[in-house]
Amino acid sequence: MASTTIFQKIINGEIPCEKLYEDDLCLAFNDISAQAPIHYLVIPKTPIPSLRECKNLDKNLLGHLILVGQKIAKEKKLSNWRTVINTGAESGQTVFHLHIHFLSGRAMLWPPG
Ligand code: AMP
Repeated sequence: MASTTIFQKIINGEIPCEKLYEDDLCLAFNDISAQAPIHYLVIPKTPIPSLRECKNLDKNLLGHLILVGQKIAKEKKLSNWRTVINTGAESGQTVFHLHIHFLSGRAMLWPPG
């Protein structure tokens, strides 16, 4: 059985988070180590390890996660933000439960490091 990730523990209510949004499919909360003045994560409740494992069946879920992030951005009156999905350790993924980063509140560089 796959080990329980920190995000699964947040979903289970075993560890706290600064929750921004929740519904049957997903949870959004502030990143504990913010890389910008605004930095939150949107995660599915189903434990998909990364974008690599997503299937055609997940297309509605993936769209939902992005639109939930957009809804939060609009509530925060953001007009600029960066959306990031790290896939695999070399890309920077450290938690192997799919998540979408939303970052805002400062100028962003391109290309990312
Ligand atoms: P990644 O490196 O793309 O896998 O992103 C994982 C993110 O999860 C990092 O930005 C971490 O700061 C964040 N993170 C880890 N533990 C927690 C936690 N308990 N609450 C909120 N964010 C967390």
